[in-house]
Amino acid sequence: MDFILSEEQQMIKKTFAEYSVNEIAPVAEEIDNKSLFPREILKKMAELDIFAILLPPAFGGLGRQRVDFLLAVEEIAKGSASVAACLSASTAASFCILAFGTDEQKNKYLPSLANGEMLASFALAEPGGGANWTQTTSTRAVLDGDSYVINGSKVFISNAGEAGVYIVVARTDPAKGPGGISAFIVEKDTPGFSIGTVEKKLGLRGDPTAELLLDNCRVPKQNMLGQEGDVMKIAFANGGLDCAGQAAAAVGLAQAALDETKTYVKERTVVAPSTLANIDVVQSTITEMAIAVESARYYNYGSVMPPEKPGMDPRPLMAAIQAKEMAIDVTGKAITLLGGYGCTIDFPLERYFRDAKTLFMAPPAMTMIKSIIGKILLGVPLGPPPKK
Ligand SMILES: Cc1cc2nc3c(=O)[nH]c(=O)nc-3n(C[C@H](O)[C@H](O)[C@H](O)COP(=O)(O)OP(=O)(O)OC[C@H]3O[C@@H](n4cnc5c(N)ncnc54)[C@H](O)[C@@H]3O)c2cc1C
Repeated sequence: MDFILSEEQQMIKKTFAEYSVNEIAPVAEEIDNKSLFPREILKKMAELDIFAILLPPAFGGLGRQRVDFLLAVEEIAKGSASVAACLSASTAASFCILAFGTDEQKNKYLPSLANGEMLASFALAEPGGGANWTQTTSTRAVLDGDSYVINGSKVFISNAGEAGVYIVVARTDPAKGPGGISAFIVEKDTPGFSIGTVEKKLGLRGDPTAELLLDNCRVPKQNMLGQEGDVMKIAFANGGLDCAGQAAAAVGLAQAALDETKTYVKERTVVAPSTLANIDVVQSTITEMAIAVESARYYNYGSVMPPEKPGMDPRPLMAAIQAKEMAIDVTGKAITLLGGYGCTIDFPLERYFRDAKTLFMAPPAMTMIKSIIGKILLGVPLGPPPKK
């Protein structure tokens, strides 16, 4: 595996690093404080082709590799993990339309997703539970003539209210268990579709997380994404890419925490003329933090290489677990090294820590996903244990 960046990849990294330092970082605190959706920033990022990066040229995309996307997300997250989270969620949902959509669906939605005119969102979690959704999904889609009528609600949906198109998961056949759950493309202006409560969150406050209400929401039957019962494949496709994007966001924000800490410990005099940087345990902690960030970064790049065998690839999920746990640990260590100042809003570390914990809680549910990965690695069925 070759991790030396090509000239083009170095250019992508540099472009978004500069954009992040000059345009995102200066407003990151305001985005967080006021829970502001970073509309203008996303618009400018669209001009830098960030939404086009993975989509094929036939739909206005650049058809680049997933690693290129991760390079950009990492740099963006150094400025604001909220911005990176909006981007990752939209890109992953767009990718589902690319992977499972009909030609008509792809032609209709992908060009405006590629040029950033429209954002996408993936709506799976419900008030009755998100982790065990294969059992608990209660949103129903019933075929009525040439359309499906969808009723139910979703919670914690990223980009809610800002996205133009939503992939909504709903049960089409209650008798078939997970095989009776399907996905639908729902446009934001569809009658019967509305946005409910917007959550006030611990972190990632710039990425709106809200309720979707579906009240006799009628969509043409051509809006089904993939085939009836395809939801597991679609959720894995969305999760795979969103996980890699979230892992890159975790790496980016942890790198920002490490950089901030290095600057601080070199400036903070403890017993003159010694600074914190002259103390052994501080030096060792900086080393531990750097190893953790680097490991998560390269593990994430490796996780998006094409799998050796087709099928459900658990590697992006494994990389996301490592990166998200790492970001909580590294941002926590950063706060410790800053002492009392680390807990104040005078430094961005408390924001990084809150964003890291919130990123950990973003889908898929991490404790649940560990058990699913274990099942894949062991080759045992994904469902509950066999009964006598
Ligand atoms: C910032 C953020 C963004 C989000 N964005 C989206 C989005 O765009 N789309 C979307 O559909 N959802 C989104 N979610 C929701 C997320 O998918 C759910 O929060 C998640 O699936 C867990 O569901 P829950 O909150 O209902 O927790 P519950 O299902 O009630 O679970 C609570 C805890 O118990 C654990 N748990 C539950 N059952 C098991 C089990 N059987 N084995 C092991 N552990 C278990 C879970 O992992 C979790 O930690 C977002 C959440 C956050 C915080």
